[in-house]
Amino acid sequence: MNAPDESVVHGSKASPKDLPALDRVLRDCAGVVAEHGHTLVAREARALLDGLRARAIAGELMLAELALLPQALAARVAARMQPAMRPVVNLTGTVIHTNLGRALLADAALHQVLALMGSPNNLEYDLASGSRGDRDDLIEDLLCELTGAEAATVVNNNAAAVLLGIAALAGGREAIVSRGELVEIGGAFRMPDVMSAAGATLVEVGTTNRTHPRDYAGAISPRTGLIVKVHTSNYAVQGFTASVDEATLAPIAHAAGVPLMTDLGSGALVDLSTWGLPAEPLPQAMLAAGCDVVTFSGDKLLGGPQAGLIVGSKAAVGRIRKFPMKRALRLSKLPFAALEATLRLYLRPERLVQDLPTLRLLTRPQAQIQALAAQLAPVVAAAVQPRFSVEPVALQSQIGSGSLPVERLPSAGLALRAVDGRGRTLEALVTALRALPRPVIGRLNDDRLLLDLRCLEDPAQLTSQLPALTESLT
Ligand SMILES: *Cc1c(COP(=O)(O)O)cnc(C)c1O
Repeated sequence: MNAPDESVVHGSKASPKDLPALDRVLRDCAGVVAEHGHTLVAREARALLDGLRARAIAGELMLAELALLPQALAARVAARMQPAMRPVVNLTGTVIHTNLGRALLADAALHQVLALMGSPNNLEYDLASGSRGDRDDLIEDLLCELTGAEAATVVNNNAAAVLLGIAALAGGREAIVSRGELVEIGGAFRMPDVMSAAGATLVEVGTTNRTHPRDYAGAISPRTGLIVKVHTSNYAVQGFTASVDEATLAPIAHAAGVPLMTDLGSGALVDLSTWGLPAEPLPQAMLAAGCDVVTFSGDKLLGGPQAGLIVGSKAAVGRIRKFPMKRALRLSKLPFAALEATLRLYLRPERLVQDLPTLRLLTRPQAQIQALAAQLAPVVAAAVQPRFSVEPVALQSQIGSGSLPVERLPSAGLALRAVDGRGRTLEALVTALRALPRPVIGRLNDDRLLLDLRCLEDPAQLTSQLPALTESLT
């Protein structure tokens, strides 16, 4: 007996000659062509037809599928127009997460970007005189007011600020750094490499755990261009340690006529202990201690866009501003607009905790997060059962971006576990969460997936996606 013809059982197979011509497909999809133009739609239609032809030749294509070709093409074109960079839900418990875009912009900064970027603006135009202006002029007074500096400028990020500061002040000369502060940040930013890229000769002083004032004093010579302090933001040296603070170092540097620069990394502009958070060194305190230049990031604790802020004395900032590399590292108008709006929020410190998302999330009371965890636990459980169990748990959030690496913030969230014998691993759940329209990112902890709810201000970002999650798990 012959095997039954498969086409009778499963529907008819398509052969390559059943495929429509490209012109015909484009005519059938006139609406998509009208919206997106011929170039993109034809390219995607060709790719779609190539794929179908290969499957037809392999005997894997059903005729019925060809009827769905217009929908398949529309979906392909829509997917091509979908940006690869998209919003995600940060349930990692790390508030300033470098991989997830660091600080969230305040509404004021978002509005400013939206209002200014589609319009000509006075970025480098002096409205008072009607002549060419300098973008720094728009922001310098404000930065000086907030930090007590004589002068200020901004560049692309703090790494650029450090590179530029060293190049402008120590290029062709020696820069002295403590061995305890030769940091690596984010993989590619290593202080010794930055020194050589800036054209300065690194002079290491002290030891990994202890550096004394006499170490700096002994290293100063006529070749010295700069003394650099680096805030060891992403690690902590504990135990038998000694370092020389800026207030002690400044007189030593100045007695030798050498400027002192400090890289604060995060650099909060307000005292975080006001809100019960661990204190972080302030640029204004570093300037008061005698630093000639202080650099810090725009998108860490400051809560703004990516930027490198440079504040200090007129002489030092003047040299930095005139250095040719400055033009290559300047801050683009887009983050510039966001930075100015963010800095203006610091003029009203009483409102900061509402206005700045970073500060709002860092200060979110644990009780509030716990209440959210209790409310969401049964809802999430209903979506993932019976394969996974869900329980509300107390957690410890991190500030992130190397800020205060050993400090933890009491938080709360959900712990999800795979239920034995239900056939789905925790990996499958993690992958399904990442595949949601707005990917949900948690953190794995042994056999648990932890969803820290500190950064979930709008629970609907999670709950609205639960039906899709349930579907993808079944
Ligand atoms: C984060 C950091 C930098 C780099 O700042 P970016 O703004 O990310 O370029 C440099 N130094 C220290 C100490 C830091 O913590």
